[in-house]
Amino acid sequence: MTIFEKICAREIPADIVFEDDVCFAFRDIDAKAPVHILVVPRRAIPRVAEADDAGILGHLLLAAARIAKAEGLTGYRLVINNGPDAGETVPHLHIHLLGGRQLGWPPG
Ligand code: 5GP
Repeated sequence: MTIFEKICAREIPADIVFEDDVCFAFRDIDAKAPVHILVVPRRAIPRVAEADDAGILGHLLLAAARIAKAEGLTGYRLVINNGPDAGETVPHLHIHLLGGRQLGWPPG
């Protein structure tokens, strides 16, 4: 069971801001911006390279946009780290929603 499945099951506490039948979202414990939320599918897909369900992937993006709007964000960034070389530390697909400050480009 991944740490995110434990959060979804309320076995580990987290500030959950959104959930529906496909995904859930909670504030990152180590926020990199004033708003830093992780949008996570209930299904434990390890990473986007192993995803095969366009419906879930589309759902995650639409949920992220809805959450960003609810947070009052106009400019924001959605990030998926695929694999350790990209900074992936939890092998359960998640979209980082970052906002609330000016975001630099290119990212590190
Ligand atoms: P990754 O590095 O895999 O792209 O992102 C994993 C994210 O999960 C990191 O930003 C990390 O801070 C966050 N994270 C890891 N463990 C926990 C936890 O127990 N609770 C919360 N809220 N966030 C976590």
